[in-house]
Amino acid sequence: MMHKILVSACLYGWNCRYDALSIPCQNPLFLKWKKEGRLIPVCPEVAGGLPTPRTDAQRQGNYVLTRAGIDVTNEYERGAIKALHLARKNHVLFAIMKEKSPSCGSHLIYDGTFTGTKIQGLGKAAQLLKEAHFSIFNEEQIDEANQFLKKMEDS
Ligand code: SF4
Repeated sequence: MMHKILVSACLYGWNCRYDALSIPCQNPLFLKWKKEGRLIPVCPEVAGGLPTPRTDAQRQGNYVLTRAGIDVTNEYERGAIKALHLARKNHVLFAIMKEKSPSCGSHLIYDGTFTGTKIQGLGKAAQLLKEAHFSIFNEEQIDEANQFLKKMEDS
């Protein structure tokens, strides 16, 4: 059976970022997996009902607020739940998520002050996936993701 991988849609190539751009991952392994049909793209923020483009937002504790101070926690949480459902429905083995996003970041996020300061932490969707015991790699960890995939496929 070919194992599936959940991926942030902006890495997959959707123009779903807050600034309506994508940042397609050009790693050859990622592109190979894409061609094989292994990748399940999801943009938790769009899935949660937010428009594109949208005002950028950052986590402040358990809340998510836009730069203008609007509370978008509900949308972020709804999107996180949708990402988790998609991961389960497709029996994904793990996820590759865009680092530093308030939804998808798995190691680093911005600190909520909109000053470009990063802290250790997870975005809302990454947190929910992790709590559900999915491993998460970022776009710089494709080799590690590949090792994980190989190990799971060999076992
Ligand atoms: S929520 Fe995730 S998938 Fe959507 S644009 Fe942000 S980083 Fe990309």
